[in-house]
Parts: sequence; structure tokens; C-alpha cells
Amino acid sequence: MSASESTSAKYVDPIKALWMNILTGVFACGIGVFFFFCFWPLGLFFVVTGLVAPFVLFFIKNLEGSCPHCGHTITVRETKPGVTCRACKKRIVVREMRFLRVD
Ligand SMILES: [Zn+2]
Repeated sequence: MSASESTSAKYVDPIKALWMNILTGVFACGIGVFFFFCFWPLGLFFVVTGLVAPFVLFFIKNLEGSCPHCGHTITVRETKPGVTCRACKKRIVVREMRFLRVD
């Protein structure tokens, strides 16, 4: 258990993020192909989403760091003002590349 007031965050490596995005896209395409056999409009939706998502997600920068409450690794979109830790359910404020705790 860490008790620091704030922790520093860094940008998620864009190459690593791109690979994750491509995997997400391939996964969505897979679901789309599956749906093509039972309900094709839904299949088309997933395939298009799967093809477009990696490019859209590439332009959304994510910050990664440790939760100032419990130390759990958290990832948040840089445009978001805050995030709730998935591990300890406590509120975290994102400010100037740092995660600040809110008590
Ligand atoms: Zn936490």
C-alpha cells in the first residue's frame, strides 16, 4: 500500500498502443464475421468498427501510471479530468501528467 499524495504518469508507448488497437480491431472483425452468419447488419457493424478503430484509437493518447491510493496500474485518456481506480474504487484527478489523490 502506497500513501503518496500523487504519482507521475507517462504516455502509453504509441507502438505498444497501436498493437493493442490492431488486436482489438482484429477481435472485432472476428466477432463481425461470426455475426454475418446469423444477423449480417450486426456483422457489418463489427467489421467496419474493427477496421476503423485502430486508426481512431491511435490519435487518442492514453496516460499510464500508478494509482496514488493503492498503486494499481491505471490507464486513462489524457482528455479526461479524472478517473476512478478499478482496484480500490477511489477517485483520482489527472493534472499535468500526474495522478492526484482525492480524499
Ligand atoms: Zn487504487
